[in-house]
Amino acid sequence: MTANLLDFDLEGLAAFCERLGHQRFRAVQLFRWIHQRGVARFEEMTDLARDLRERLPSVARVQGLPVLAEQASADGTIKWLFDVGDGNAVEAVYIPEDDRATLCVSSQAGCAVGCRFCSTGHQGFSRHLTTGEILAQLWYAEHELRRRLQTRERVISNVVMMGMGEPLQNYAALIPALRVMLDDHGYGLSRRRVTVSTSGVVPMMQRLAQDCPVALAVSLHAPDDALRDRLVPLNRKYPLHELMQACRRYLPAAPRDFVTFEYCMLDGINDTLTHADALVALVREHGVPCKINLIPFNPFPASGLRRSPRLAVKAFADRLNAAGIVTTIRKTRGDDIDAACGQLAGDVQDRTRVVQRLARRGEDLAVVRVQRPQGAREVAP
Ligand code: SAH
Ligand code: SF4
Repeated sequence: MTANLLDFDLEGLAAFCERLGHQRFRAVQLFRWIHQRGVARFEEMTDLARDLRERLPSVARVQGLPVLAEQASADGTIKWLFDVGDGNAVEAVYIPEDDRATLCVSSQAGCAVGCRFCSTGHQGFSRHLTTGEILAQLWYAEHELRRRLQTRERVISNVVMMGMGEPLQNYAALIPALRVMLDDHGYGLSRRRVTVSTSGVVPMMQRLAQDCPVALAVSLHAPDDALRDRLVPLNRKYPLHELMQACRRYLPAAPRDFVTFEYCMLDGINDTLTHADALVALVREHGVPCKINLIPFNPFPASGLRRSPRLAVKAFADRLNAAGIVTTIRKTRGDDIDAACGQLAGDVQDRTRVVQRLARRGEDLAVVRVQRPQGAREVAP
């Protein structure tokens, strides 16, 4: 089996080239062709040394992920469903805004944490994505969007690891992927514009601070252990006290001087003013500089939960802001295509079911383009 060059950060690629008897600057050239120009075919990499160009096809490949489907929302959000084999698919979501364009990237097929309110969690864990599979989402989206927008300029300005999966439970694959995102020869994103979101894998937060400090978002969802144990089962292993300490320890290395706490607003569960006051007390007690992002719950049928009423979310935000904690309410994007937070179920155990689902939705959705990847069954729009 040849090596997939999407699996390497620049150091890894340099080591690979060295093993082939080539110097580091060749790896830089190759890396730039792949990530900056989106080229996968070695024969198109015209300034590579000829002997390397001719050797590469027998030892390496640049392999992205087949696109099973694409859906575009009326608000400009685009969701891609990528085939990762064995009936699994993962999703990436492109969210354009006035001053930035964010790609929400998946790190695992499914998720083992099993949060009560998350459709990925309900689906269970299938497997970790490789570095190449994490990067393939960005590689495809960036270059596909450049083609469509007919630009050579960078399109995606921010990456959030908020798709399917718990990124810090796939640490070994995550780190090289982050490095490629940050690398000036890769996507050149600043550390502030790459965010890892975690449900609170405490030991790995500390390692992230050492290995690759990027912006950190922590999914809190509850101000006390009893409630958080129920909503985010990982809390039983790493309770709030430890999580808060890990947040504080993270900050000196971080590119931002605050942690973003995400808080999914669930009707009658965690959304009262008593909860808001407890949340204020929690962050004060631990002295964690933070901003809070309230996410209106995006319902899915099996959850049995309801979104908090708008007024309750507003009152909760006002209470936190009044206490001096900067709090925002996340706009939900891509609602009409189930691309909103926590709706990235992407289950294709039975692919025909997804095909039917997409077909059914096709009536009110713009399924812009559906590619037929080699080896994958056709997905009818
Ligand atoms: N596993 C990581 C990152 C992926 S989830 C984490 O949990 O942080 C990204 C964000 O979406 C998290 O804050 C998560 O709690 C939130 N989320 C999950 N399901 C949701 C839902 N149904 N409605 C709103 N937000 C949800
Ligand atoms: Fe996993 Fe995050 Fe969903 Fe929890 S919210 S189940 S950690 S993807």
